[in-house]
Amino acid sequence: MKHFKVAILSAAIAGLTACGGDDGRNGANGSNGSDGLNSLITQTQLPVGDSNCPGGGVQFDSGADSDSNGSLESSEITDTTFTCEPFTAPEQIDLIGNTKDNVWFSEAQARVAAATQPNLTRGAAKNVILFVGDGMGISTVTAARILEGQLNGKSGEEHNLSFDLFPYTGLAKTYNVDAQTPDSAGTMSAIMSGVKTDVGVIGVNENIVRGDCTTVAGNELVTALELAEIAGKSTGVLSTARITHATPAATYAKSADRDWEDDGDMPAAAKTAGCEDIASQLVNFEPNLEARIAGINVDGIDVVMGGGRRSFLPKDAAFNSPDAVSSVEGDRTDGRDLTAEWKTRYPAGNYIFDKTGFNAINTETTTKVLGLFNESHMQYEADRKNDVAGEPSLRDMTEKAIKVLDNNDKGFFLMVEAGRIDHAHHAGNAYNALTDAVELSEAVAKAVELTNSEDTLIIVTADHSHVFTIAGYPKRGNPILGKVVSIGSNSPALAADGMPYTTLGYTNGLGFRDLGDETDADEGYNYAIDAGRQDLLLVDTQSPGFHQEALIPIDSETHAGEDVGIYAKGPGAALVSGTNEQNVIFHVMDYAADLVNKANSKQVAP
Ligand SMILES: [Zn+2]
Repeated sequence: MKHFKVAILSAAIAGLTACGGDDGRNGANGSNGSDGLNSLITQTQLPVGDSNCPGGGVQFDSGADSDSNGSLESSEITDTTFTCEPFTAPEQIDLIGNTKDNVWFSEAQARVAAATQPNLTRGAAKNVILFVGDGMGISTVTAARILEGQLNGKSGEEHNLSFDLFPYTGLAKTYNVDAQTPDSAGTMSAIMSGVKTDVGVIGVNENIVRGDCTTVAGNELVTALELAEIAGKSTGVLSTARITHATPAATYAKSADRDWEDDGDMPAAAKTAGCEDIASQLVNFEPNLEARIAGINVDGIDVVMGGGRRSFLPKDAAFNSPDAVSSVEGDRTDGRDLTAEWKTRYPAGNYIFDKTGFNAINTETTTKVLGLFNESHMQYEADRKNDVAGEPSLRDMTEKAIKVLDNNDKGFFLMVEAGRIDHAHHAGNAYNALTDAVELSEAVAKAVELTNSEDTLIIVTADHSHVFTIAGYPKRGNPILGKVVSIGSNSPALAADGMPYTTLGYTNGLGFRDLGDETDADEGYNYAIDAGRQDLLLVDTQSPGFHQEALIPIDSETHAGEDVGIYAKGPGAALVSGTNEQNVIFHVMDYAADLVNKANSKQVAP
């Protein structure tokens, strides 16, 4: 505030004049009058959005300084004027305007509207937590449940993962608009926006042409995370994959190609046409959202943790993190250090890159966290002990995130991805896929413990399945990672080729590897494809480094096209029941937390 003083001079009292008679002598001078009061004017800059000057401007307050203390108290103000900048009120945008008539959207919305749950009121959920087990098909859930049970000394089949105990379950049809068997980009875009779309694209509808930046404009979809943000809720995104990978990206980015994780991944034409890489979109989330939807005021994603540092740092060893593994960690070719940009945007925020930084986060005072714990994906849970500077587990990240986000009275939206169940399956290694699925179950259990099912909707689902099977006739309690042993027998059953076989297997992929104690499934890529039958008689198939047999040789095991489970608890949970198009999940979250209406009501139209 700037102060201007304008002094008012005391006026001298002039002599009076009278008629008749001679003028008398001049009287003696009177004593000096006391000083007059100073008049003060204060000037205050008004920000855009001010109720008197919607376009911003200056407020002038004036009045006499009655107590002569040199400042203008509010009780002394006698006049206020404004000089306002010109302003045109932004047109109120219908946040789902470009999706309302999209048939995927309207049909899924109608399905949710027609469903009933006792005592359900729209908007009863203050918080929404969405867990996505990437590639966690039903067979993965079953095998992970058995493995966790057996690790706890049980037979295993009777055991329950945390979300097996959720009161409501449904199925999701995962196909993409242009594909029978989907990928994570199309499926997560459907889950987050309520609109099914094509393979490989992020946060845009099916009118997009994959890889063509010029087709993005006008086809962007609004996501549940964006709606929660506009509604004033706190928001968070966690993943054990790169935070720019398809699943987490679909919560915050719009991209014609899932592979545009940093500028170095983008074709020149896309950059020339003005498309922004996914990492940059994460750091610019707040200004980008405010630019896309005028009249809103958001504060950015509050908690972001995962892998993928390389897309945030310049391709220059000088920018390597202290725990860098590669000689040059960064991948960016534009010289930008997005971690520094993030710190500039959120000076009070915490940028962390290792377990020590993670442990130091005070969840009651921290408002913004960006945690990038690895150059690429975070470690598999079973391999986490081998990380250079240490990484938090998915359960630890979930706990930390909830404790930061729940400081907001308006609630929060949190997406948690177990991203590497998918990666282990692609590598043909059930051990890591199942141990990462068990860790997801632990993260869900932590979320249940830290929240209240009266006001928090928790959904656990998968984006798609994998060609992973539980086969043969193993007896009850047979080790799930072991060879099939029939009822009444103690030795492996033999197939028609005279060789034993495992319960778990893959229809396609890299095939057999026997890597012993190796806990990193990706090591399997260092060997030639070895599909088909092997003599497993002397192989320990329960060791972490065993990769199951695969029938069809392919350089990476594939996704599968069957339905996946949706497990739900809390307000609106019953709405997941039945066999659903995958995009219905958005509408369940929208119904439960009334996201669209709450966000629409926050748009300021002065
Ligand atoms: Zn995949």
